[in-house]
Amino acid sequence: MERREAILLRLRPVRDVDQLVVALSPAVGKLEFLARGTRKIESKLNPSLQLFARVMLDSVPGRRAHHLTGVEVLDPFPRLRTRLTGLAQAGFVAEVAEALSASNQAEPRLFRLVRRELLRIERARDDRLGPADVLSLSLFALRALAVTGWRPRFGQCSVCHRPLGAVAAVFAAHPYGFAHGSCARNRSLRSGSGQADADPIPLHRATRKFLYERLSQTTQPAVVPRGVAQEVDRVALTALEAVLDRALKSRRFLRMFTKERITNHESRNAESHSPDS
Ligand SMILES: [Zn+2]
Repeated sequence: MERREAILLRLRPVRDVDQLVVALSPAVGKLEFLARGTRKIESKLNPSLQLFARVMLDSVPGRRAHHLTGVEVLDPFPRLRTRLTGLAQAGFVAEVAEALSASNQAEPRLFRLVRRELLRIERARDDRLGPADVLSLSLFALRALAVTGWRPRFGQCSVCHRPLGAVAAVFAAHPYGFAHGSCARNRSLRSGSGQADADPIPLHRATRKFLYERLSQTTQPAVVPRGVAQEVDRVALTALEAVLDRALKSRRFLRMFTKERITNHESRNAESHSPDS
């Protein structure tokens, strides 16, 4: 029998009464288990299989999959599940973690990032999704990318490889990273219209500096200029979708709450800067 600490990222019904359990472990990365009979009401494991909880999992190898035999809840994050904004944010964290983690590969830093972000969501006082929440999720995503091999070079152009210097740069999906605006423009002209890449994102110099500092430290920022926060949000989304090569499912659910916030509390101006426009 194996016993491992993990965070439950996804539960998917299979067959009539079983579930597929996807979890992230610090020691061995992504784990998949078959949890037999756990959709039956009388299942002993069922009450402990709570999405996003930190748990100890017992398993035995089976013929085609590892079978889950025991679950001990260490950190249930109970409040997170009672709020739609909590579920939406945790869903985003879990989707990013599952997409970026690999099996049989220790992921202690990714695990710590996921655990810390879930704790933040759990402890949030406000039921609404505010700009600070969105910024935190964006930084979580960029840090998760950084610890799984996708940290952009901050001082060097990803196209011409010369120093970026003190100029305002752009962030581009291909080649992944920061670039001189002119280099990125020339490259997208040369590569023709067949490319479906997102347009490079023009960034204030303050945004690149902010990202460099935040990806080097793990503290949360106190006050962040609004323009910087919006650019960080766009960089995170572009970087994620470039690396995963698909749109994030949880993002649409999350956007329902940011849209609501924008129309209710912010100026019309904010909508024209939305990444979807
Ligand atoms: Zn360049």
